[in-house]
Amino acid sequence: MRYPSTSRPHLRSVIAAAAPLAATALLAAVTAFAPAATARQADASLATARQAGAMFDASAWEGDADQLIEAALADSAAWERLAYLTDTFGPRFSGSRNLERAIDWILGEMRADGLENVRAEPVMVPRWVRGREELMLLEPHERRLDILGLGGSIGTGPGGLVGDVLVVGSFDELAERADEARGKIVLWNVPFTSYGSTVVYRSQGAIRAAEAGAVASLVRSVGPFSMYTPHTGNSAYDEHVPRIPHAAITMEDAMMMQRMQDRGHRIRIRLQMEDYWLPDAESANVVAELVGTEFPDEVIVLGGHIDSWDVGTGAMDDAGGCVAAWEALRLMKELGLRPKRTVRVVMWTNEENGLRGGNAYRNAHRDELHNHVLAMESDAGVFKPQGFGFSGSDAAFDVITQIGKLLDPIESGTIRRGGGGADIGPIMAEGVPGMGLNVDGSRYFWYHHTKADYVDKLDPHHVGLSVATMAVMAYVVADIPQRLPR
Ligand SMILES: [Zn+2]
Repeated sequence: MRYPSTSRPHLRSVIAAAAPLAATALLAAVTAFAPAATARQADASLATARQAGAMFDASAWEGDADQLIEAALADSAAWERLAYLTDTFGPRFSGSRNLERAIDWILGEMRADGLENVRAEPVMVPRWVRGREELMLLEPHERRLDILGLGGSIGTGPGGLVGDVLVVGSFDELAERADEARGKIVLWNVPFTSYGSTVVYRSQGAIRAAEAGAVASLVRSVGPFSMYTPHTGNSAYDEHVPRIPHAAITMEDAMMMQRMQDRGHRIRIRLQMEDYWLPDAESANVVAELVGTEFPDEVIVLGGHIDSWDVGTGAMDDAGGCVAAWEALRLMKELGLRPKRTVRVVMWTNEENGLRGGNAYRNAHRDELHNHVLAMESDAGVFKPQGFGFSGSDAAFDVITQIGKLLDPIESGTIRRGGGGADIGPIMAEGVPGMGLNVDGSRYFWYHHTKADYVDKLDPHHVGLSVATMAVMAYVVADIPQRLPR
């Protein structure tokens, strides 16, 4: 596909595009797009604002959008930087030296890129440590099986524990067989349907198993495909329920144990986990900006989370989202495309096992959240982008939809209702409109939270398309004359 390289004149007003509206209605509509103080007076004209949003014409930004798209696709700079980051610093688990080294390197690179107000905003993060972990199958045959303890799990004590396994396929099934669970190790063998519906067995499994009197909990890894890859992830305890060790096994072993149980065979295992906690550690959210020319206090935030799990290299989850946002800002700078509002890249820390970065950002920026025009997150892997899921008002949705049309040449401008991200969740809860980058999600959960999350899972061209998609959306929202309505 070719992209036009015409540099179209930069339209200074979209009012011309809304010509069919009566002048008074138009004024009301524009008022509704204005900063909060005046927007509040304009609620009577919401319908008019909606009309104006639907009539908003983004075509004046075609030239800028084309430049960003061309630059993002001209080489594989984003993928190369992603590869450098993940190869050089490795997994970036909260509390690890790797994470802080990666953050320091990024800050230096951002300054070298000429980005503005580059800074680390301090965040204290929890520090769970994966010790030695071992699962031995003792009956019906003897063999070591792969496991990954789930984030936050307690250890078993140095001697480990030996017990029989009870395989169940749902919370309901355990409730029915609760009298069989006492003193056993419960295995949640729940096939992947969607992440949201399956992950509850990872997050809640230890609590529910302990309530039934189990001594440990195992979960079938949460994913649709496996090459004998256990998936880690966060898990919870309940202060009113005893804490028991909780680990993921592979899909293969979960299905095998199900077959063993169905045959009436005894499944006996020994589980040893030396996982433990240390005191909180210092980390930081990484921030860099391009300051707006006309409304510098109004901010468009985009980013991902810089921490990862402690296995693999966290390339998909979520160095890719961080680097794509970073590259989007760098390209604006390089092309001399400085919008009216400030574009701010944030790489949040500690999404995976605490969300401390997202919460700290909200707390540190509480006074300026009314001036956060939009928050955008990429945390589903920078695979081939399709568009965005948007959470905000109807009037804003219409404007975003029109801006999405600028991405038609690269087929990444479909705007759907609903979306956001874990790290921007805390500011979205305070009223900031939010959006998440939607991508081809067919392979994300193959590698998510596994040792296989390396940069080779991402295609350089798709990374470039993700950069272009985030860059165009962020830039145009930052540059339109009227502020995106809430
Ligand atoms: Zn993530």
